[in-house]
Amino acid sequence: MRTVALLAYLLFSIHLFGQNESNKPNIILFLIDDMGVMDTSVPMLVDKEGKPQKHHLNQFYRTPNMERLAKQGVRFSQFYAQSVCSPTRVSLMTGQNSARHRVTQWINPETKNAGPDDWNWKGLTSKDVTLPALLKKNGYYTIFSGKAHFAPTEYEGADPTNLGFDVNIAGCAFGAPGSYFGEDGYGNLDPKRKKRAIPGLEKYHKTDVFLSEAITREAITAIDQSLQKEAPFFLYMSHYAAHSPFQTDPRFGDNYKNSGKSRPANSFATLIEGIDKSLGDLMDHLAAKGVAENTLILLVGDNGSDAPLGDTYGYFSSAPLRGKKGTCYEGGLRVPFIAGWAKPGKANSFSIAQNAVHHQQIGTVMDIYATILDATGTKNPNNHTIDGTTLIPQLQGKKNPDRHDHFLCHFPHSHRSSYFTTYRNEDWKLIFRYQTTGNAEQRANKSKKALPRYELYDLKNDPYEKANLADQKPNKLKTLIEQMMAQLDEEGAQYALDTSKKELRPALP
Ligand code: CA
Repeated sequence: MRTVALLAYLLFSIHLFGQNESNKPNIILFLIDDMGVMDTSVPMLVDKEGKPQKHHLNQFYRTPNMERLAKQGVRFSQFYAQSVCSPTRVSLMTGQNSARHRVTQWINPETKNAGPDDWNWKGLTSKDVTLPALLKKNGYYTIFSGKAHFAPTEYEGADPTNLGFDVNIAGCAFGAPGSYFGEDGYGNLDPKRKKRAIPGLEKYHKTDVFLSEAITREAITAIDQSLQKEAPFFLYMSHYAAHSPFQTDPRFGDNYKNSGKSRPANSFATLIEGIDKSLGDLMDHLAAKGVAENTLILLVGDNGSDAPLGDTYGYFSSAPLRGKKGTCYEGGLRVPFIAGWAKPGKANSFSIAQNAVHHQQIGTVMDIYATILDATGTKNPNNHTIDGTTLIPQLQGKKNPDRHDHFLCHFPHSHRSSYFTTYRNEDWKLIFRYQTTGNAEQRANKSKKALPRYELYDLKNDPYEKANLADQKPNKLKTLIEQMMAQLDEEGAQYALDTSKKELRPALP
């Protein structure tokens, strides 16, 4: 009888434990601006056997805390973001691809960037389904810290508290900070930098506290408020770094002074190392508070690298990958992704593979929304279409049966690469250009030739996009174009207009 009573008590306790608010995992979405997959000392790429492979940029950057998180978690060798900021940032908030949510270009804080007539240049509003609003409804204390860039200045989405965040630390409409220096008041105290002056953070003005440090300290204060409330927290730690201006984080300048690289390249590396310190400080704080085992960290970049290391379209900023931020090549689209518990242990609500590199399947920024909903037991509204899938099976080292290994980046705008759609399906990648002359990329092309309309790469055998197979593989090319067109239709993509106001649409050769 006593055994039965004990068993009943145990079952009751387990039931209670499962229902306990405080047992919901805390989540840190750690987003780094303009950090590509190579901008770290953690080797993210793998060799033909699937083993992590160090390249020369991994020797240049110093990110010991990313190494620490990678050791206790899993990283992805093939993780995709959009080619510029705002499209990815809205995907993280909604789980939708940019062709669907229609924030297809970075949001200009003052005016509409050119593009399709009604692309979503006004960004997110309080009526949109957003990740923090859903988490808040599910009992989470929702903290935003850093760079927002969700909507232009005069629109409600410029303030993260209108999008479901309880707390906004330093977030606003723009993406490039006036200054990283406390001495400048982050732009507020320097008339030349005032246009992009960071809001809040007044207590650090005229101090030597670097911006990356200030937003981390404030985030830690907000975490403590959440712990006092005994509410689980969602911290969206969104660094302004390593976006231009490439100012040197003085704490780390000495580490790069003999690198042989340019002053801006060294400064970019100090910005990366400052972000890395922020990650370590957060992990240490969670451990000190005894909540590390119950806190999931997802670290991700928002677009390919913008490291000032060489020409935009070649093998420099993301080498050995081709291109950088803003381009249609892998260096424009591939970002770091590391997932791990702040401390692996018995209190983790699901297991994550340790010191693992996941290379079998891809991941995308659309998946973050679905993953966080899954990890927190939060429901996606039935009428809200999402393009991502939960990554939890992949985090556990399993095959993800729901994952379709494809990624679409649709960019109907003028930029470094202009008017293009790229579509990856399994190992094949298509680049379709709506315009082959008269843009920045063609002007940068020293031969002055028109750009190719189609590029086709076999990423399994040619990961660095050296051999365009569009002419040699006409059937494969046709298949990819048809798949790309179907995906564009499915997502309701918009198209730019040519000079006679006709839509620039994809076409078969
Ligand atoms: Ca960015």
